[in-house]
Amino acid sequence: MSTTIKVIVFDLDGTLYEDTHHFAYYAKRIEEKLSEDKREKFRSDYEAVLSGHHPLKIGSVYDVQRDLILLVRDGVVKEAYHWDGTKLTANEIQTIYPNKITVNLDNMFSIGDLWWVPSSIGRHYGLNNEDTYQAFLETRKYMMSPQFQMKPINGLLETLTEIRDDIKLVLMTNSPKPDSEVILEKLGLSMCFHKKIFEAGKPVKTAERFEWIARIYAVRFDEIMSVGDNLLNDIIPARNLGCKTIYIDSHKIGNEESADIVVDKLKDSLEVLRKLANPLH
Ligand SMILES: [Mg+2]
Repeated sequence: MSTTIKVIVFDLDGTLYEDTHHFAYYAKRIEEKLSEDKREKFRSDYEAVLSGHHPLKIGSVYDVQRDLILLVRDGVVKEAYHWDGTKLTANEIQTIYPNKITVNLDNMFSIGDLWWVPSSIGRHYGLNNEDTYQAFLETRKYMMSPQFQMKPINGLLETLTEIRDDIKLVLMTNSPKPDSEVILEKLGLSMCFHKKIFEAGKPVKTAERFEWIARIYAVRFDEIMSVGDNLLNDIIPARNLGCKTIYIDSHKIGNEESADIVVDKLKDSLEVLRKLANPLH
């Protein structure tokens, strides 16, 4: 990497830890909010998504209002499926989506990570945004409790400690502050960041946030590196501005072109991060 990186922006969930057992808890909280006759259907859909036997997949988009699952490239709907897997024809797609679509956090979900799977299935079975957000908050509360044990990524704390004198480290997460701070504490990373942005509103506000970061640190976009596991939230908007990117593609939905560096796990990029601070070593 030829330019000097002066700021690294890290996502939190799915990036700074790899634990996934809280998703089962989250799915359970959503299931409980459904009427009894829908719970079994919810469970079997959730299992089907996890095992790859459902049209809803990480990397797809869920149109809540039309109850359609979309495959989208650059905003253009390329394929669309009903919940049962029936594919829409090109004509039908053209009629329903004549223009580019924009994802949002209310009714056009980018299924960018596992957080979106239980909530989308819950919405399909009639829950509203408040119900699923409530389940999310209950899950974050559980994650704050001592019962939820987390496994820090080997070498991460050491790496961040080593580079933080040379490079500004920013945490930028969509999650609220209280639970995120507890998670950082559990991971031993509380003291690592120069700045922490909570409830960041990615992807809608990603660009705005990066512009702010560039301004406060007086750096160019190509001197900022964005590290995250969600292509749409963490990578594409940062890349469009000219930032460097490391994409943690644990679900294998991208390819080598998706970011400057693509890894399965953050651990595989620690050496790269260390070299950013000491380019000669
Ligand atoms: Mg994430």
